[in-house]
Amino acid sequence: MSNKGPMRTIAGLATARGFAVGPAFIYRGDGEIPIPQYVVKPGREADELLRLKRALVETKGDLEKLISAVKEHTGGKDVRVFECHLMMLDDIVLVDETEKYIREDRINAETAVRRTANHARRQFAQMNDPYFRERVRDLDDVERRLLKALTGFAEDPTTELKVPSIVVADDLTPSETVRLPRDLVLGFATNGGSTTSHVALLSRAMGIPAVTGLGDITHRAIAGETLLLDGTNGAITIFPTASAIRDFSDLIERQRELVEDVATGAPAGTLKDGSDIPLYANIHPGVPVADIKAQGARGVGLYRSEYLWLNRELEPTEEEQFEAYSDAAKFAKTLGDRSTIAIRTLDIGGDKLVRGISSKEANPFLGNRSIRYLLSNPDVFKKQLRAILRASVFGKVGIMYPMVSCVEELQAAAKMFAQVTEQLDAEGIAYDRDLPVGAMIEVPSAAINADALAKYVKFFSIGTNDLIQYTMAADRGNEAVAHLYQPTNPAVLKLMKRTIAAAKRNGIYVSVCGESASDPIVGVLWAAMGVDFLSMSATYIPLMAKLLSRLTRADLDDYLKAVEAMGDGATAAEILAVCETWMRAHIPDLDNIVL
Ligand code: PEP
Ligand code: MG
Repeated sequence: MSNKGPMRTIAGLATARGFAVGPAFIYRGDGEIPIPQYVVKPGREADELLRLKRALVETKGDLEKLISAVKEHTGGKDVRVFECHLMMLDDIVLVDETEKYIREDRINAETAVRRTANHARRQFAQMNDPYFRERVRDLDDVERRLLKALTGFAEDPTTELKVPSIVVADDLTPSETVRLPRDLVLGFATNGGSTTSHVALLSRAMGIPAVTGLGDITHRAIAGETLLLDGTNGAITIFPTASAIRDFSDLIERQRELVEDVATGAPAGTLKDGSDIPLYANIHPGVPVADIKAQGARGVGLYRSEYLWLNRELEPTEEEQFEAYSDAAKFAKTLGDRSTIAIRTLDIGGDKLVRGISSKEANPFLGNRSIRYLLSNPDVFKKQLRAILRASVFGKVGIMYPMVSCVEELQAAAKMFAQVTEQLDAEGIAYDRDLPVGAMIEVPSAAINADALAKYVKFFSIGTNDLIQYTMAADRGNEAVAHLYQPTNPAVLKLMKRTIAAAKRNGIYVSVCGESASDPIVGVLWAAMGVDFLSMSATYIPLMAKLLSRLTRADLDDYLKAVEAMGDGATAAEILAVCETWMRAHIPDLDNIVL
């Protein structure tokens, strides 16, 4: 037992299923560079000025190297932003001001840099011109580079993770999450976040248990001390006793057996009566594909292409994209001859911000995001379409457009798609001429008008993460409104029903790729509503396969009837309670399966 404090279990949000035991790695994140603060001894000002000068030279050198790399990569374009950073480092006013703080106030170089940056930030922020307001971001960037040079702060704090650990953080951006070495992360425990934030999705996709919304876990956990993380029930135990560690390890073993058990049964999604609602995986570039196969995925219902844009200064080239999509297409083929991979075109904006692309918007969730961004940036869109089409010769590939809100977008996208195929034809480049194009249904207007949208596409993929968020006007990543994020709200159920019916009427297929597809209660409800397949983080496939294998089509019809009998006046909680009662009645060992 640790002598650091008594054992305590702290409740959080059950974000990614699974258990982990291991030492805590307290991750302080990219955002904070610890800045030393000291008074410069009289007579030592020149040394401090020299430190500043050296840091300026080093930072400029780094930036110049970056600029030539960027130039080489883009043929001279896109370097403006870094040239502007160089100009800031050369700015006499800024440098003079910093030197003055060191000389006259005798503060250390880091504190002087921060003071100058704060002063400039205040001035930029007061300007009406959006161009200058945007410069604040550049200033942040330059300040960060300079402080790194001064403090020797590691470029990438994720590299400090050296032994398998539970990563404890305030919150993690998608970029930080994917930068952590996968094989050393046993679990995630964060102060903030919610079950549908992108960090949550990522941990699920990577098959790493996670608990979020823990409040102040970064202060309560101690680096190196053992933690017990229960991502299934949303709890973390600090300072566990030896017997608590033993019990927990038994639980982990039980779960492993369960996964083995379901992975060796009939194809995932086979019902008790032999009918089939195939289970597909949601993946993104970099996900270990061998695991997905082992977990029983029969296709890929969502390939989040935007991860190719993360963690880099430059947009991926067509060749880089082609390579990634080709790998994905080849992988999909290994899942079965008829298995498909639905590549979603760049879905940025909202909480998915990409350096160099995302611009500051007052309301990014309602802004120029996803398909809107692509239609207003035809070069980016066409390059991606071209790369996907070229990769389509390696396996059955589909393309789906995110955040579609009206038919005009599908018309405009079809036009650009045709321009790309014409160009490929002219160049004699092969591609799949029957490549299916689909629309994600994630915006209420799309669900309401699904009949009209269906005329333009071969399939719908319902993104419930966003559809619920936009229907309920409840930010999917905000704990304070998590109670309003209600998959079983009658309004959400109506939109689901309407979308599925429109797909059937128009002879196109429909699936769900939001995280709710993996929820033991709600995912089965979508199956009962008649979706053609469910797509989810692969870790959840064995569990959902096991649940579906216990039910017949007639059972599912009965389940839907029970829910529909509740009517529009029922609350989300009442409907959920009916669902849970029905599920427990039909799968008596539900709690054992779900753990
Ligand atoms: C969704 O919104 O349900 C979805 C699958 O897309 P993402 O979570 O990537 O926004
Ligand atoms: Mg979405």
